[in-house]
Amino acid sequence: MQNKVEVHPASAQEGGGYWVIVCINVGSYYKHMPQSKVYCPDQQTMASVVSDALHHKICPECGHIFSKHGWEGIEAHWRSHHEDILNYADAWKLISTDKYIEVMLACAE
Ligand SMILES: [Zn+2]
Repeated sequence: MQNKVEVHPASAQEGGGYWVIVCINVGSYYKHMPQSKVYCPDQQTMASVVSDALHHKICPECGHIFSKHGWEGIEAHWRSHHEDILNYADAWKLISTDKYIEVMLACAE
């Protein structure tokens, strides 16, 4: 899975800084994950969030950035946020083999 990140400047009302938005490659386009955009008050924070987003695992459903320990925490994350889409056992089979997006796209068509 290839991901991309977009960085947008935050407005003055938001206190300046940046928003980092994760985009997931879903085949023919990059799906934006605005619900998990991360606020960064300064450039240094922004750079580290961008680096995390590019090197860490990303939830294929919402763009949540996992910690540096691979998929650690996904079970709790999935069960509390996406269990209604697909049960965790089935989702994990797809996510762990990098097939989730492929299969979900095929189902949506
Ligand atoms: Zn998620």
